[in-house]
Amino acid sequence: MLAENITRLRQELGHAQLVVVSKYRSLDEIQAVYNEGQRVFAENRVQALLERWEALPKDIQWHLIGHLQTNKVKYILPFIQCIQSIDSVKLLDEIEKQALKHNRVVEGLLQIYIANEETKFGLDFDECHSLIKEYVNGRWPHVKINGLMGMATNTENIEQIRTEFKSLKHLFDELNENYPQLQLKTLSMGMSSDYKIAIECGSNLVRIGSKVFESN
Ligand SMILES: *Cc1c(COP(=O)(O)O)cnc(C)c1O
Repeated sequence: MLAENITRLRQELGHAQLVVVSKYRSLDEIQAVYNEGQRVFAENRVQALLERWEALPKDIQWHLIGHLQTNKVKYILPFIQCIQSIDSVKLLDEIEKQALKHNRVVEGLLQIYIANEETKFGLDFDECHSLIKEYVNGRWPHVKINGLMGMATNTENIEQIRTEFKSLKHLFDELNENYPQLQLKTLSMGMSSDYKIAIECGSNLVRIGSKVFESN
């Protein structure tokens, strides 16, 4: 079942990258996906991420997709591949500090608020523009911002989801036009319920949990 799920997803995704969201899954379940050749996984909580990183093969590339508190950056900095949930200047300052300590450059995505839900995190478009200005001026040399991440509203309304994804794609294109030196490559949009719409709207990285692990 797992193998079929992954094969079907890879076909549907085309050139978009599959990041498997392993939150709440057992180590055995994650290992089974690994055994199907998957190497990029994402977690939304630091504690779970640390446990899994320790227990599972070391060639897994881990992404963080949940809100990150500044006091926890130091725990993941030694191994994290990409922090998809950068949502403040304060957090960037701390990532820069820890990355410098470890003498490495950390990849990150700016999480942008596109949904119509109070519960979701992220920068608004104005905050994103002003943050990018500081970034291109060299404020965080040990962070490589590779692109943007966003979550659409959890709704049945496909048109609303499409509008939200399109607004993020628009911002992504605009930043690349205004700052060609940035070379933003990654547009992370889409999860189990909305990845097809996300890809139509220009996503090139999807974060999928349920559709990988569920048996339906
Ligand atoms: C849980 C989660 C996902 C994956 O959700 P599924 O519906 O299981 O595919 C994607 N992105 C974020 C930020 C998440 O927290």
